[in-house]
Amino acid sequence: MQIIGADFVVLCDSAFSVIKKGGICFDTQRILEIDSYENLCAKYKGIQCTYYDSCAITPALANPHLHLEFSQNAGILKFGDFGEWLDSVLTQREVLMQGDLQNAMQQSLQECLKSGVGFIGAISSHGADLEVLANSPLRVMYFNEAIGSSIEALDFLYQNFLARLKDSKSKASARFIPAVAVHSPYSVHPKLLEKVLDVAKKENLPLSVHFLESYAEKEWLESSSGYFKGFYERFFHKEVQTFYSAKEFLQAFNGIENVYFTHCLEADGEILERIKAQKGKIISCPKSNRLLNHKYLDLQAVKKAQIPFCLGTDGKSSNDSLSLLDELRIALFAYADMPLEFLARELLLSVTRNVFVDSTLPLGELKVGNFSDFSVFKLLKVDTFLAQHLILYAKEAHRLYIQGVEVLESK
Ligand SMILES: [Zn+2]
Repeated sequence: MQIIGADFVVLCDSAFSVIKKGGICFDTQRILEIDSYENLCAKYKGIQCTYYDSCAITPALANPHLHLEFSQNAGILKFGDFGEWLDSVLTQREVLMQGDLQNAMQQSLQECLKSGVGFIGAISSHGADLEVLANSPLRVMYFNEAIGSSIEALDFLYQNFLARLKDSKSKASARFIPAVAVHSPYSVHPKLLEKVLDVAKKENLPLSVHFLESYAEKEWLESSSGYFKGFYERFFHKEVQTFYSAKEFLQAFNGIENVYFTHCLEADGEILERIKAQKGKIISCPKSNRLLNHKYLDLQAVKKAQIPFCLGTDGKSSNDSLSLLDELRIALFAYADMPLEFLARELLLSVTRNVFVDSTLPLGELKVGNFSDFSVFKLLKVDTFLAQHLILYAKEAHRLYIQGVEVLESK
């Protein structure tokens, strides 16, 4: 049991409460008490007490969408247009997994930890990231991804998905949660989708899916035309039609709550209403969206639909870093039409509370009973906490606790 305190303890609750000179008493599992640092130290005499001056303590940040396996793709893929990017992924697919991938993934993990991230949602296409993630100090939701549009290959792809899921289950623990990802509506055959969703439902596994990322995808789902028509002809030598409309695809997830829908750049009001009705969440990756789709998520529309909004980095196939602090800074500048401090608070909640709201994981908010996962950020010496200060000035985390243990090298 120990106590940490700081000038500001930012609870990341729905009221965005901040305790000045606050303290947290915790053990290696859970938060036991939250009060002023002074009260806690007086109450629990003799236990280790650490005060972080000019700092804020927040819940450890959560990056719910990244692809660790694409950690060495810098400079290989083409940015600026979704279709040109996807073409470059297909033509370079042999190269993308070669080289010293383990080393590249370790470096990416360090970027996560240094930015105060204690939880990640890792989309895994091949299972090459399983060991490195299971052995990392991070809490991991490990999304085994299913992909496949060709009916002849479905059985093989489904078996491959099941084998990876089984491997990930052998690592399951309080810190490592096996889960399921569906790649996208344009790349997953309805028969594969049905089987994979059946598994997720029966085993109550968390779900993540890329959805309406690009105009090309929207056009394909609406009219089987545009970029993807040529894509299937060039890379798969066949003429196909879209498997679903956007609404039909969403329908397949009906009855499953807490699905993470990633991107949703092309989601209109009706689609957003459906995601809300299905109790889904939306993950936005602004830097990835800038690089591939020269566009940002309509945050006002997502707020209006009252859908929990989360922020992720995506992988290095469409980003230059996995630092969630970088992502927050970019987002703070991207939405110039929103009041600054209001936006900064929304963004801080998008990497804490919103990721876990309505889920069974006791994370994302500092409250008694939640896991002992905290980030400590050095701030300016000020009297009042401003979320904008954290986003603007904290270039990396000062300390990071996961399961009540410090995981960053001390500075
Ligand atoms: Zn992604």
